[in-house]
Amino acid sequence: MLPKTADVVIIGGGVNGLSTAYHLAKRGCTDVVVLEKEEGLATQTTGLSVGGIRQQFSTAVNIRMARHSVQVFEHFQEITGADPGFHQVGYLFLLTTPEDVALFHRSVALQRELGVNTEWLTPEELTARWPHLAVDDVLAATFNARDGYADPYAVANGFAAAARRLGVRIFLQTEATDIIVEGGAVRGVVTGQGKISTPAVVNTAGPWARAVGQMVGVDLPVYPYRRQVFVTAPFPKLPRTTPMTIDFAYNWYFRPEGEGLLTGMSDLAEPSSFNMTVDWNFMVKVIEHGIRRVPLFEEAEVVRGWAGLYEVTPDDQPVIGAIPGVEGFYCAVGFSGHGFMLSPATGLTLAECILDGGPQTFDIAEFALERFAGQVGVGEEHVI
Ligand SMILES: Cc1cc2nc3c(=O)[nH]c(=O)nc-3n(C[C@H](O)[C@H](O)[C@H](O)COP(=O)(O)OP(=O)(O)OC[C@H]3O[C@@H](n4cnc5c(N)ncnc54)[C@H](O)[C@@H]3O)c2cc1C
Repeated sequence: MLPKTADVVIIGGGVNGLSTAYHLAKRGCTDVVVLEKEEGLATQTTGLSVGGIRQQFSTAVNIRMARHSVQVFEHFQEITGADPGFHQVGYLFLLTTPEDVALFHRSVALQRELGVNTEWLTPEELTARWPHLAVDDVLAATFNARDGYADPYAVANGFAAAARRLGVRIFLQTEATDIIVEGGAVRGVVTGQGKISTPAVVNTAGPWARAVGQMVGVDLPVYPYRRQVFVTAPFPKLPRTTPMTIDFAYNWYFRPEGEGLLTGMSDLAEPSSFNMTVDWNFMVKVIEHGIRRVPLFEEAEVVRGWAGLYEVTPDDQPVIGAIPGVEGFYCAVGFSGHGFMLSPATGLTLAECILDGGPQTFDIAEFALERFAGQVGVGEEHVI
């Protein structure tokens, strides 16, 4: 039964809500309730993600948070008891324009300065290592062998199990319908199953974050965009060690998935919506580009596909931390396609914001909501 009170109520049982619950409980804050509107945990953006984990970002804060998160994923089983299915096959970015080469030169320099040893590769080196790639138009590439992909569903449920062992209570099919604010401070959360009094509410509602913000009168510029993924039948012609490969200028990617391949591409022309249906005509475009970059794709047979929602902000950076003007209201929203890989660092940071009054490990000034009041900066440039 829903408790009458809690020290912290988290709205959203995806990977970020569950990582936050775990990090709070690990610090001794165990009177935590997670509310999830669906029948299961991590069934929305988290479960529909492709699980990519990379440290190759353009901003220092993302590089630092990703570096920390990779270390957590490497030891996830010791930490939570759950196997995250982390395949460290590396992330390979293919660069085909002089502008992207210049951007990645700057980013790789910053990554190396921050202890992330990304390799810079010529087209000849690419062909020698991955002969399945067509590189006629590739000017350069970057590769980091410690990057890779994991199982987002397993990671989210790993955080959930560890949090539950520490005392966190998780309620499924329990939608937060309102947040009670009195005197500028959070006092409670209303659900279809009753009300919980609490001084702290965390918004980790993914693509629905804006609606949760509206419950306290805060406009969070987080917009949903459909992203589609396709999986092929078993494809033994490419080794399972093939890296997550990104054709950066085309927002196209592929990686191994079980015995087959997984591939996707962002359609930047598609407007914001909550549409999660699969467009099989778009699948044809994804595969056509695949054949252009990896001619062997011609022999691959697509057997399934799905669509999920990116939760995008104007600068492709999240909003993390306390929201000014509403005491006790915290957010970790707007991850624009890289929220799974940062989830260990995000949960740690939100726990610090709640328990210590502000972030301790990472400087998250760039993630403040106030940045949208003025002219919005460039933000993260390695977005797929
Ligand atoms: C196709 C696709 C591929 C992606 N690939 C990657 C990738 O390779 N690497 C990466 O790092 N990221 C990737 N992402 C992004 C990543 O999946 C997300 O950033 C991340 O999962 C967000 O997790 P979350 O916990 O914040 O949100 P979610 O997983 O969406 O969880 C939010 C939860 O809140 C619940 N909720 C909402 N409103 C309420 C309410 N009022 N009351 C109760 N519950 C509520 C929802 O039901 C949902 O379960 C991808 C996303 C998509 C769609």
